[in-house]
Amino acid sequence: MGIIVANWKMNGNPDFADNFIEEINAADSENTVVVCPPAPLLGRFRNFRYDVGAQNCFCEEKGAFTGENSPRLLREIGCKYVIVGHSERRSIFHETDDLIFKKHLAVVAENMIPIVCIGENAENRDNREKVISDQLSFFLNNPGSTDKTPCFAYEPVWGIGTGLIPSPEEIETIFAFIRNLLGDKVSLLYGGSVNAKNSSEILSRKNVDGLLIGGASLKADEFKKIIEEKSF
Ligand code: PEP
Repeated sequence: MGIIVANWKMNGNPDFADNFIEEINAADSENTVVVCPPAPLLGRFRNFRYDVGAQNCFCEEKGAFTGENSPRLLREIGCKYVIVGHSERRSIFHETDDLIFKKHLAVVAENMIPIVCIGENAENRDNREKVISDQLSFFLNNPGSTDKTPCFAYEPVWGIGTGLIPSPEEIETIFAFIRNLLGDKVSLLYGGSVNAKNSSEILSRKNVDGLLIGGASLKADEFKKIIEEKSF
């Protein structure tokens, strides 16, 4: 079984969340299902039968950090997972590998599971192993930092929201490379243009333990089909 994570990004509203929750609560999934709505909607998920996560957090527990979300508070309101270092956080909000590593530590300190995003952009496609190694350098230089079995999501930036997906062989090569760097304890997710038609094939690939889904997670019927898949 896999870990299927929905990243709504900055989409949805209270009515949308209520309808989504009703539809997904009726789904019968053997997978670990995690929905990450915008933070103001987290409170709507009190009666959700699956897990809930945040799309981001800060690396400090509390204090004068206007506009940021505390990992402790996210845990206290029911989050089990936090997405950390999504490519949109890296490119639009200039998050560095150093900050992303600190956020990972802060999430782990609250006994939540970080979903750390890595992946190259289109210009670096031929240089992807170097990009991934650099993005993981803080993790690799701090042995033990991945002992609490976090998730890492490989998301090629050129594949996010574009319909482009690496070939099955390319996915296996990349995931073997990442597995070799991070070891067997971590879960490795694939993200980028996943939908109900390709989810099963991608999850069947060696070393792929789950999926991070953007656009397709905003269609409850499509997301339901993905999480109800039994052949993973
Ligand atoms: C994402 O942004 O994490 C993502 C995977 O988006 P999409 O599924 O829309 O490509």
